[in-house]
Amino acid sequence: MPSYSINVGNVELVSISDGFPTRSPLMPFPDTTIEQWREFPELMKENDQIGSRYGTTAVRSGGKLIIVDTGLQAPDGILMEDMKAKGVHPQEVDLVVFTHLHPDHVGWNLTAGKPTFPKARYLIPQRNWDYWTKPEVVKDAEHIRNQVLPLKDHGVIEFMGDDYQITDELTAVSTPGHTPGHVSILIDSQGERAYILGDVAHSPAQAHYTDWCPIFDVEPDLSRKTRHQVLDMLEARGILVSAGHFPDPGFGHFVKGESRRMWQGI
Ligand SMILES: [Zn+2]
Repeated sequence: MPSYSINVGNVELVSISDGFPTRSPLMPFPDTTIEQWREFPELMKENDQIGSRYGTTAVRSGGKLIIVDTGLQAPDGILMEDMKAKGVHPQEVDLVVFTHLHPDHVGWNLTAGKPTFPKARYLIPQRNWDYWTKPEVVKDAEHIRNQVLPLKDHGVIEFMGDDYQITDELTAVSTPGHTPGHVSILIDSQGERAYILGDVAHSPAQAHYTDWCPIFDVEPDLSRKTRHQVLDMLEARGILVSAGHFPDPGFGHFVKGESRRMWQGI
């Protein structure tokens, strides 16, 4: 059984999931071929499908309980059960931090019209908010109208500027492209580091095929550039990664293999 909890200096990370969808990899990555995906037998399921995951990372830092992203809240979503099973209780969450505001990252913000995490402040990257609330974007973004804008009425939103210090040990760093203003979370404690990736990459296959952009990338050229920079840095420094869409529990490292970079899950 994988370990869902990992310590980074004085910080604890807990991997939580809202569900495990299965689909053809050609849906998110239409410019790729099944032959290329078969180079990753560990990712392939029956009928040439791949598994994905709607992941949330809970972080305990400086006496605060923080969750990064809130899943999709599909009818079969399991985030609440999974949180409780792993000792992360919604009523104890101090901060909800978003890497970006896609539907699979804001799903559980509200339940029956009320904030799901009753005492939490919700931290949104300012540049990401600016993008999603543009009239021409928000008109087609039902999830923003349903799961994000009501937070404003509840008075629980705070905005994160560039390189926003969340706690002494957590910084939101700019990793744009997947969406404008997308951020990742750098953890630095007692000389140890970890990195909550957000959607800089969606699949371990991108460790090698780093140019691949899923259809969800709003700015593919910028996303590709960011992905190269971030994965090169994570590989060179051997930094522990928490990747929300990677196979459960999503903890691992980007490592240099014989002929290609690989994802080595823990
Ligand atoms: Zn996502």
